[in-house]
Amino acid sequence: DTRTYHSLRPPVPLPPVTHPHPLSVTDYALSLLPSSVSSSPDHRYYIIDVASDQRLIFSRTLRLANSLSLHLRDRLSKGDVAFILLPPSFNVPIIYLSLLSLGVVVSPSNPLSSASEIAHQVRISNPSIAFATSSTSSKLPPNYKLRLGVVLVDSPEFESVVLTNAEDDSSSASASPTSSPSSSSSLPLPLMSNVNGVHQSDPATILYSSGTTGRVKGVLMTHRNLISMIAGRYHARHAAAEQQTPRAVCLFSLPPFHVYGFFVLIMNFVLGETLIWLQKFEFEAMLKAVEKYRVTLLPVSPPIVVNMMKSKLTDKYDLRSLQTALCGGAPLGREVSEQFQAKFPHVELLQGYAMTESGAGSGMMGPEESRRYGSVGRLSATMEAKIVDPGTGVALPPGQKGELWLRGPCVMKGYVGDDKATAETIDSDGWLKTGDLCYFDNEGFLFVVDRLKELIKYKAYQVPPAELEHLLQSHPEIADAAVIPYPDEEAGQIPMAFVVRKPGSSITESQAIEFIAKQVAPYKKVRRVAFIDSIPKSPAGKISRRDLIKIAMSCSKAR
Ligand code: AMP
Repeated sequence: DTRTYHSLRPPVPLPPVTHPHPLSVTDYALSLLPSSVSSSPDHRYYIIDVASDQRLIFSRTLRLANSLSLHLRDRLSKGDVAFILLPPSFNVPIIYLSLLSLGVVVSPSNPLSSASEIAHQVRISNPSIAFATSSTSSKLPPNYKLRLGVVLVDSPEFESVVLTNAEDDSSSASASPTSSPSSSSSLPLPLMSNVNGVHQSDPATILYSSGTTGRVKGVLMTHRNLISMIAGRYHARHAAAEQQTPRAVCLFSLPPFHVYGFFVLIMNFVLGETLIWLQKFEFEAMLKAVEKYRVTLLPVSPPIVVNMMKSKLTDKYDLRSLQTALCGGAPLGREVSEQFQAKFPHVELLQGYAMTESGAGSGMMGPEESRRYGSVGRLSATMEAKIVDPGTGVALPPGQKGELWLRGPCVMKGYVGDDKATAETIDSDGWLKTGDLCYFDNEGFLFVVDRLKELIKYKAYQVPPAELEHLLQSHPEIADAAVIPYPDEEAGQIPMAFVVRKPGSSITESQAIEFIAKQVAPYKKVRRVAFIDSIPKSPAGKISRRDLIKIAMSCSKAR
């Protein structure tokens, strides 16, 4: 098919699909962990926490993860789901690695989510265990029976289980009779063994995303999906990293429950590079950390790039160590890129494009392509793409805009328990419909022009309008409602609601805003309201969002 776009990058070696032996993503990750880390295991930091300056070396990370696995392996089976409701901390990657090595499905959620949002996610993923803290655990649905209960990771019990076992390998053997020989201290790194026989086709993660329409769904990724994501990035980065001395030092301020943050956490582990973790994001603290730790790599979302481009605070700090800023999660304007580049000529500003359903990094800029402002880069090595006319379904040549479809080994298995949504999103040939309006130029650069789907992105966080509409419609004084994205310089987009009052109601903008704010995570708040006589709809009853966006834009001009 001449209208299929293939990657222009060198092919990436993947383990065969029909791998005869069990192969988990952690097996694969450990096989790539650089020899420099395993030969000097005590000298390489995996993570440094900015606030406390606490440090975690690679070998200890593995020891802790292994210790947790020894504790859990008799209780949890392959295929069990673990719901993770944790604020950022060293425990997060340790728990991820441990559970993945056991074949337990990791399902991380935003700890800022409201109780009802969490109840919805729990209904989808049906976990048998949850990892929470004493403050987040109160948001777990009280009437939901978790077969194995809630593990409080800030409790002394958890610390003693994980930490004491890991103090040295001999104590872990005595603490758990099932201790596997692979934790023997004669090895430079305590390798996690695949005790449950996890295969590539087994489920690995459930992340949450509303996709192109409707409410939040559970995005199921297999070990194969994660292995493919790592392989693609490893081979692209490895070539670049080898030329880099010293190794990359990466500032990490992404949410570890979102595909972008999840992937950077795992990827840094695989690359044997150091993460400087800013667990509570604050702009000046980020600049300070760049200076203090000589940060070279900065994965961010567009609001941070905008802030860096505008803020005078950047002059107060020595940012000369920065080599690369990697921006993803939402669109980055061409002017912003150009102005950022003019202010920081020594920093390569690269863009990445992905969606939770497609796995991390479907379109990626490499350093050699970094000056193609406005583009999100070329297709990743393992990806194929089509640009499809949304009206006719015809695949389009370079230069023409249509919906981006993606296919490759990173694309999700499907939405958990929702065959209908899966079939609407992935066709029978395996093409994932992204809901993004895009085009390729003649040199294979991908440009994202607009979003065809309803999704709103507030500072790169997902805000599904259907969810807010549902809540607004439940208000006794609201007859109907629709929510659309409204442009905002700092956040990219803010959710704006069109509200139809019931007869006799005089509900105000601030009352409507307050009503929603009480029920959702802070980033999902409605931030602007307009009242209207009726919501424009198609003959089939679908909200005509394009019309509402036009109305919103013309009202704002009139204001
Ligand atoms: P998520 O599943 O939260 O990662 O959201 C994926 C969506 O974010 C994509 O389908 C796009 O609409 C948007 N997005 C992500 N990265 C970019 C980018 N670099 N440029 C434009 N839009 C992006």
